[in-house]
Amino acid sequence: MKCRSLLRFLSDYVDGDLPTATARRIGDHNRVCPTCRRVIQTLKTAVLCLKNTPRLHAAARARRALRRKIAALRRPGPPRT
Ligand SMILES: [Zn+2]
Repeated sequence: MKCRSLLRFLSDYVDGDLPTATARRIGDHNRVCPTCRRVIQTLKTAVLCLKNTPRLHAAARARRALRRKIAALRRPGPPRT
């Protein structure tokens, strides 16, 4: 596997969502390629940071206002500028 072809599998690899054979090929490449190893480690760290970040909850009034605006955008009408 070449570095460039690894990129399209990167997210699924880090999430553990790849078929075993593909994950094994990436793992094999990861062991011999310091550049990809660094990229994968960086992505894993970023994912871990995001998982450990507390979710922010918008106030109920703000959520309702946002839903109204989204609904208005979805309504058919004249093109917006
Ligand atoms: Zn590589």
